[in-house]
Amino acid sequence: MHLDPFELHRPTSVDETVALAREHQGRFDYLAGGTDLLPNYKMHLNLRPHLVALEDVGELRGHSLERLGAMARLADLERDAELARAWPALGDAVREVATPLVRASGTVGGNLLVETRCFFFNQSYFWRASLGFCLKADGDRCHVVPQKTTCYATFSGDLAPALLVADAEVELAGPTGRRTIPLEQLYDATGDGIRRLTLAPGELLVAVRLPSSARGRRGRYLKLRVRPAYDFPELGVAVAGRWSDDGRVEELRLAVGGADPRPRRFDELTRPLEGERLDDRRRRELGAEVARRVRPVHNTFLAPEYRKKMVAVYVRRALEASAPADA
Ligand SMILES: Cc1cc2nc3c(=O)[nH]c(=O)nc-3n(C[C@H](O)[C@H](O)[C@H](O)COP(=O)(O)OP(=O)(O)OC[C@H]3O[C@@H](n4cnc5c(N)ncnc54)[C@H](O)[C@@H]3O)c2cc1C
Ligand code: SF4
Repeated sequence: MHLDPFELHRPTSVDETVALAREHQGRFDYLAGGTDLLPNYKMHLNLRPHLVALEDVGELRGHSLERLGAMARLADLERDAELARAWPALGDAVREVATPLVRASGTVGGNLLVETRCFFFNQSYFWRASLGFCLKADGDRCHVVPQKTTCYATFSGDLAPALLVADAEVELAGPTGRRTIPLEQLYDATGDGIRRLTLAPGELLVAVRLPSSARGRRGRYLKLRVRPAYDFPELGVAVAGRWSDDGRVEELRLAVGGADPRPRRFDELTRPLEGERLDDRRRRELGAEVARRVRPVHNTFLAPEYRKKMVAVYVRRALEASAPADA
């Protein structure tokens, strides 16, 4: 596999970046760490003739307890013990992404916008050609659910669920200006594995904001994968919450990734639990209810029936691990 030629642009400011986006609209991709994009390019997946590298855009770099620049490296987050104490689910999730080598290059923005994955998509051109391609690249049908014109490719980033339970917001900059939206709204609730984001054409992710009101919640991120040292999530469950001294839930967030084309938070299930004690029965009930709402399909290593069952198990375990011992 080889990389086809492309023209590389190296802007140094957000304004310059957005101007390039306007100039090359529909014919470029942003390049962050390249750990997702470049392997996909080598497989000839949706190639563009222009790449706009974000490396030199100062405003996108660095991180603090309140703000993660889109170009903050995962390895830098991983080394920050204070960040992991303030945002425990995020601390877990960062450590679980891929390998140390990938985390050295991989960025926060690239992780949140990572391409959705499917066994029939993440393959070489030759492999895909032999099957007749698919909706997500070069083809006109889905091999997973052939009777539909929808793509079921799975969102497989680790950071999104952990940032969803932190009530994170994202700063965006595009040809029509700047805006800030809740992270959950970055992912299209009506979309599929292709139209998975609500970003406007050319819109750039500048940073993630972490609200101080959510800091210090107890929490965990638990990940199911085949090879623990390496693989994408087959499922990722994040929990964050606060408990009163007498063990009642004061606030609770729960999010799931790796199961659907977008990561999701389940406020409609967790909000009614505020004020309650979450005993083992209630944790199991919540796990079963979340499992009923996710729809994994057969496009990754593990069978969807198994992944669905594991949703219930991982929700229960993440809740157990997050709650204080006497709750
Ligand atoms: C072997 C291997 C294992 C992996 N395992 C995991 C895993 O376990 N968990 C996991 O979450 N990921 C995994 N990944 C995927 C990937 O490495 C990570 O998600 C990484 O964080 C992506 O970041 P990046 O900076 O390299 O993104 P890039 O590859 O540079 O970009 C990814 C996508 O985001 C877009 N993009 C990037 N930054 C911006 C921005 N600021 N604004 C707008 N668009 C932007 C790019 O155009 C591209 O479409 C793995 C990858 C490999 C190669
Ligand atoms: S779910 Fe279907 S359309 Fe989407 S990537 Fe897989 S095979 Fe292609």
